[in-house]
Amino acid sequence: MKSTLRLSIVLPCFNESATLEYSLAILRGVLDGIEGISYNIICVDDGSTDDTWPEICRLSGQRAELHLSGIKLSRNVGHQNAILAGLEHVGADCDAVVTMDADLQDDVRAIKQMVDKYREGNEIVLGVRRSRKADSFVKRYTARMFYGLMKNSHTPVVPNHAEYRLMSRRVIDSLLQYGERNVFLRGIIPSMGFKTAVVYYDREPRKYGKSKYPLSRMFNFAVEGITSFSIRPIRSIFLIGMVSLFLTVSIGIYVIVAILMGRSYPGWASLMLSLWFLGSLVLVALGIIGEYVGKIYLEVKHRPRYFIESTTGEVQSTSQK
Ligand code: UDP
Ligand code: MG
Repeated sequence: MKSTLRLSIVLPCFNESATLEYSLAILRGVLDGIEGISYNIICVDDGSTDDTWPEICRLSGQRAELHLSGIKLSRNVGHQNAILAGLEHVGADCDAVVTMDADLQDDVRAIKQMVDKYREGNEIVLGVRRSRKADSFVKRYTARMFYGLMKNSHTPVVPNHAEYRLMSRRVIDSLLQYGERNVFLRGIIPSMGFKTAVVYYDREPRKYGKSKYPLSRMFNFAVEGITSFSIRPIRSIFLIGMVSLFLTVSIGIYVIVAILMGRSYPGWASLMLSLWFLGSLVLVALGIIGEYVGKIYLEVKHRPRYFIESTTGEVQSTSQK
């Protein structure tokens, strides 16, 4: 007989009061239908400014059937850190965790397939979107650019996989050993090397509340991802420098030949152009190096990722010690 799998679901919540009750009801319906599991749900309030926390406390107190507990972080620390806060509190007896967005845009029914894959011996099961038809035009194209950039900078992300995944106890314990302050889970988890499977699902448009990822935040997220995994941008500066040196030498030879042959050559325009061209190259190069230096600066301070302001329900520490 199969032993009962103790599953924890971690939901990061930032201003999700409009969707929580609906999401938890759907989630519960699906989880109750999976055989051989016991579960608990942990909502991490990532410094919301709406009624998310009172809503988590209310549901946790009044709806025992949800097996819900909550952690309120003292301020907004971002999606990735909120997930880590949840993982650090799933409790020492949990066998596996599923992380997913609180708006349930990702099809919850895929959890059943994730559990099946886990039982087949996979330690990481990644939820991957079948298509991006439900996305807006802008989101679709920025996502394509995002994955293109990731691929070119050798960042190990799986296209169309976000934060919907199952991880075994061993994966969580290993993940919590990563000491970096700026975590990029989409890159770290697929690169850990544990046996991995993929589950495909359809993503629905958001039913309640608004997206917390405007373009500027997505851009920052992409920079975060690339600089977490790759020094290719710095290497490419060297390459661009070499190409521009080659161009400069070629233009120099052309100028000398033109003078020897007594031909006049365009002066002011070419001078200004090359001046601005090289000036911009230097600034871009400094900017790229600056990104990495800034990252080192933030990492060496080793500041805590988050502080817990309050908890509700049964919140435990993940540590088995
Ligand atoms: N989220 C969070 N902290 C943030 C931003 C977002 O915990 O600073 C959560 C949010 O509540 C949701 C998930 O991250 O559960 C994904 O956010 P959202 O649905 O807005 O992103 P989108 O689906 O639009 O990419
Ligand atoms: Mg969403």
